[in-house]
Amino acid sequence: DERIISSHMSMEDEPVEFSLRPRYLNDYIGQTRVKENLKVYIEAARIRKDPLDHVLLYGPPGLGKTTLSQIIANEMGVQLRTTSGPAIERPGDLAAILTNLESGDLLFIDEIHRLNRSVEEVLYPAMEDFALDIVIGKGPSARSVRLDLPPFTLVGATTRAGALSSPLRDRFGVVSRLDYYKKEELTLIVMRAADLLQVSIREDGAEEIACRSRGTPRVANRLLKRVRDFVQVQGDGIITSETAKDALNRIQVDKLGLDEVDHKLLKSIMKHFRGGPVGLETIAATIGEEAHTIEDVYEPYLMQTGFLQRTPRGRMVTPRCYEHFGVEMPQ
Ligand code: ADP
Repeated sequence: DERIISSHMSMEDEPVEFSLRPRYLNDYIGQTRVKENLKVYIEAARIRKDPLDHVLLYGPPGLGKTTLSQIIANEMGVQLRTTSGPAIERPGDLAAILTNLESGDLLFIDEIHRLNRSVEEVLYPAMEDFALDIVIGKGPSARSVRLDLPPFTLVGATTRAGALSSPLRDRFGVVSRLDYYKKEELTLIVMRAADLLQVSIREDGAEEIACRSRGTPRVANRLLKRVRDFVQVQGDGIITSETAKDALNRIQVDKLGLDEVDHKLLKSIMKHFRGGPVGLETIAATIGEEAHTIEDVYEPYLMQTGFLQRTPRGRMVTPRCYEHFGVEMPQ
């Protein structure tokens, strides 16, 4: 999707994201608990000269899972190999990746919940015993041969830990959940990014961008770039709370980071369904979006802000939502 506040990566993000990615744990802002734990595991593995245990990172898109995998590789001083669940179609594809690993390498599989079952089965012995079971021949004469693999660390990332099969989930020694960032953390992230992009910014300007970034560094970086454009063309080039507010209002990102699609979704539940509960499919049909997009992309943040609730009978908006839009609640 092409929303400015989308937490998914777009083509436009790519070069900037690359340059803004923190490279070591100390530059990685926020997620303190995850960071502290990883620091210990990395240190311990280095002392033992073992590869790090397999790590599963989960949480909404844009919170820094890919960044963290790169950081782990840097901290361990090993090579990073990157792939994704949907890119590995057949067991043979994964076997080829695994046999090409070098000792200690870190293999990052993004969207690991999208691996198909037959591919997953190749992963089990690889994760557990650093072994690859291959079947030679067909029919009654077929036999299975076990190949040794170099020891490696698998880092899996997923937006939904619940979508992972339990045999796969159980094979991760470290399971870490990334949470939405606090305003103060996002302010630091914006200040740091502005510094790297050589943009002049005041702290109140960074804070304004942080508030509207949906708790997500990827969104914060993107809003920063957009605000920079406005300020450079129309202002004196310095991002302040006023110039940031101006620019963000013009691109229709409200003070909580909600955009037109969020507004449409919430308003339609208030207007057409008396605040709910209403089924996901019905909402999807009403506002013309895919149900799974609503579920993965829009809802998590709307629930986080306390505007929307999931109930067994469907979605409901909250009193807080009525308040935000200044709409009277039905009796
Ligand atoms: P994910 O893999 O979870 O979708 P990414 O790791 O690609 O997210 O992060 C998106 C962008 O956000 C990165 O390019 C990076 O610039 C920025 N970012 C993420 N986490 C942090 C952080 N903790 N500190 C600073 N920047 C961050």
